[in-house]
Amino acid sequence: MFLLNPSQHSRFYPESRSREIMLRTINFFEDKGLRKIKEDDHNRTFYSDFIEFQRNEKLFATLLTPSAYATNPDCRWDTWRNCEFNEILAFYGLAYWYTWQVSILGLGPIWMSPNEELKRKAAQLLKEGNVFAFGLSERKHGADIYSTEMSLAPQSDGTYLANGEKYYIGNANVAPMVSTFGKVSDTGEYVFFAADFRRQQYDLIRNVTASQNYVGQYMLRNYPISNSEILSRGQLAWDTALNTVNVGKYNLGWASIGICTHALYEAISHASNRRLYNMFVTDFPHVRSMFVDAYIRLIAMKLFALRAGDYMRSASSDDRRYLLFNPMVKMKVTTQGEEVINLLWDVIAAKGFEQDTYFEMAARDIRALPKLEGTVHVNIALIVKFMPNYFFFPGDFPAIPRRDEAVDDEFLWNQGPARGLSQIQFNDYRKVYETFDLPNVNLFEEQIEAFRQFLAQATPTDAQQKDVDFLLALGEIFALVVYGQLILENAQIYADQISHFLVDQIFDFMVRDFSKHALQIYSKPGSTSAQMDLCLRMIRKPIVNSDRYQQIWEEVSGLSDAYKMND
Ligand SMILES: Cc1cc2nc3c(=O)[nH]c(=O)nc-3n(C[C@H](O)[C@H](O)[C@H](O)COP(=O)(O)OP(=O)(O)OC[C@H]3O[C@@H](n4cnc5c(N)ncnc54)[C@H](O)[C@@H]3O)c2cc1C
Repeated sequence: MFLLNPSQHSRFYPESRSREIMLRTINFFEDKGLRKIKEDDHNRTFYSDFIEFQRNEKLFATLLTPSAYATNPDCRWDTWRNCEFNEILAFYGLAYWYTWQVSILGLGPIWMSPNEELKRKAAQLLKEGNVFAFGLSERKHGADIYSTEMSLAPQSDGTYLANGEKYYIGNANVAPMVSTFGKVSDTGEYVFFAADFRRQQYDLIRNVTASQNYVGQYMLRNYPISNSEILSRGQLAWDTALNTVNVGKYNLGWASIGICTHALYEAISHASNRRLYNMFVTDFPHVRSMFVDAYIRLIAMKLFALRAGDYMRSASSDDRRYLLFNPMVKMKVTTQGEEVINLLWDVIAAKGFEQDTYFEMAARDIRALPKLEGTVHVNIALIVKFMPNYFFFPGDFPAIPRRDEAVDDEFLWNQGPARGLSQIQFNDYRKVYETFDLPNVNLFEEQIEAFRQFLAQATPTDAQQKDVDFLLALGEIFALVVYGQLILENAQIYADQISHFLVDQIFDFMVRDFSKHALQIYSKPGSTSAQMDLCLRMIRKPIVNSDRYQQIWEEVSGLSDAYKMND
């Protein structure tokens, strides 16, 4: 079973504690039941019960303490198991995922810090069941963290007084260590320090959102900071901000996957059992087509995100390919999640508004993921830096297998300087494309070849390269090529579950999406006639195969009534 089905949990784990964590978490939510989950959502009840549950079960302590700081042998930071934990939490409700996600972000600057005392303190706090917070964003500055105004004024005794405000900070109401980003007032040096919400000078102003989540606004007013509370300074503090987000970004895609999976079960079960005009809703051809598309897009999301995890776990200072794949999990997987929900919602229509469905939450929450931790634009602007090397200057790296072993992902805390992205190389993407001789994969390769020619022969002009709007359109196509590469790599690894029909049906939507983005570049005000000609060559129609389509339809319709949450 490639998609998560909580009633038939079968994922591989190399030891028993990981499976136990997943099953206990599933049981917690199934025991709570959909009715209570929805009631808490509507009443915006803070998720204290979940925090209590994870404290009693020592879940965050086990999953988020690197083994070097743990007293229990089950503790490690293991992306293989953390990604499923992400998926399960979002499958039941994004609010539960959010408190976990911002704990991960809050712990980033701590585990990356040279301050051993604070790391031991964090490990102890985790053991006691606490959650953590990441105070990076400020109200006025959005993505522009250079303009951070949180200010640390040096005092004559070597300590500092911090003053300033942070905005949109999850867990800011409960975290005893809020990793806060600021600048030393006289030198402008960047600093990360740990603030405690219980101190008098920590003024928790309000929850910025109207949701179950506590997304806080807090003000530090002459908050005293000793050197022992400083996590990092200067370049390290800056790198820590970006490197923490590199880790956190990955989880956003998994939240989308969890949401879409639950929504798919609800939608297909509803539509398959609903009769209109003496036939089932799923007998409409357009309904089938929407389900097939939603299903294959979701499978593709999961194939890509799993494979990106292999690269993340294999990363080293000599192999930084994860720096392309992680932002793609963020920008591509999460926007595909929106597409999946759009398709399903068009089918289930009014049902998606009903207050007792999971779908009603999914339709709202799926929108959040593309917007957190850097918008889609910010992440596309980031990935286009990789484009020249990806297409024209490949490297030579050994093949990476599926990384599901019980090891600590230590490199995440030692990622090094957050620069030099344009120098990172990749294996030649054409190799994996060539191993698949499938009609739509072959067609997609022809589209890529036209795009390569576009880059090489109708190279974007200096003006176009400075035009973010134009670059974003190119970035969308680049993202598709990378998406396809990792999907194919993982289709080989999961060949027992992912048939060639399924791969070819995935590339049916990939061909369509490629065409759509090519048309967008074609239509840009500044595109040249040579560029427009090449764009037209990228616009192709996928190859139809009715047997293939029928088989995939049977797969997705087979999910009807396969899972229903306890009431
Ligand atoms: C529910 C929620 C929870 C959050 N939790 C936290 C948290 O716990 N800790 C924390 O620190 N932050 C948190 N945030 C903040 C979040 O990370 C930012 O909101 C997000 O990064 C986007 O910033 P912005 O909305 O201010 O957009 P802005 O930065 O104001 O962007 C405005 C527009 O400009 C575009 N843009 C900006 N820069 C670029 C660029 N370089 N290239 C191309 N386009 C660009 C954007 O895409 C956007 O369209 C949270 C936000 C929300 C809504």
